[in-house]
Amino acid sequence: MAINLSELCASGTVLTDGAMGTELDARGQPAGQAHELWNVENPEAVGQVHAAYAQAGSRVVLTNTLQGNPISLAGHGLAKRTAELNKAAVNIAGEAVGPDVLVFGSVGPSGKLLLSGDVSEDDLLRAFAQQIRALGEAGAAAIVLETFADPDEAAAALRAAKDNCDVPVVVSFSFAAGADNDRTIMGADARRIVDQLGPLGPAAFGANCGVGPDLAVGLAQRYRKVWAGPLWIKPNAGVPKLIEGQTVFSAGPSEFAQQIPPIIEAGADFIGGCCGSTPEHIRAVAEMLSKKNN
Ligand SMILES: [Zn+2]
Repeated sequence: MAINLSELCASGTVLTDGAMGTELDARGQPAGQAHELWNVENPEAVGQVHAAYAQAGSRVVLTNTLQGNPISLAGHGLAKRTAELNKAAVNIAGEAVGPDVLVFGSVGPSGKLLLSGDVSEDDLLRAFAQQIRALGEAGAAAIVLETFADPDEAAAALRAAKDNCDVPVVVSFSFAAGADNDRTIMGADARRIVDQLGPLGPAAFGANCGVGPDLAVGLAQRYRKVWAGPLWIKPNAGVPKLIEGQTVFSAGPSEFAQQIPPIIEAGADFIGGCCGSTPEHIRAVAEMLSKKNN
């Protein structure tokens, strides 16, 4: 039975999960390898990350399929394995978290630019359809289009989702440009995004990656001026810094959790973390939320 995102968040903030990619890197996945390959070659590691988030308090986890569309996978010689890698991801997550945690299918951008003609709208529709069909057939409870920058590409993914599965679709952009990071690198702000994509019927809008929790407050406020439905926010664990050749995110678990309440006050319904966030970050947010509700 299809879930309803408005009902899901009606009784309070829903805690989602933290990063997957940086967690797999930390578990030794070779740099440059497609994270999705571990859905078949090291499913134990992927399952461990999901289980750690569920134990930390996540009520929703996202599949390890951010770059699981056939255009991105082609860069690793894996395009033909699109259905296999995406279905495996849903199964791993479902087994790792059990029946009380929802598994949402993660879908990121193709990595190619419509604007420069690297890819056509038809190419995108076909590619996203292939990935989303696999996620839906394997039982993803919702689809999360995340880390998008180009509203036209997100529109193609949203159309593909609407045509190829009947679960709710979250559309989340990465804001990493403009004053206070109020725009995507393609120049779109929340108003333009909601104006263009709202008529296509998403269940939720949101922001992920791009900024830390401090700047996510403004993003939630800007969405709330133009969107009354469920709002999905997953900031990075602060700002990435290069320390001795390693990327380190600046916000530790307690600092991250302390910055979450203003995002919720600004209207976020679903909250979690993106790059650099760990199960410890999510546990700290869970503890903050339980104090807030008591
Ligand atoms: Zn991220």
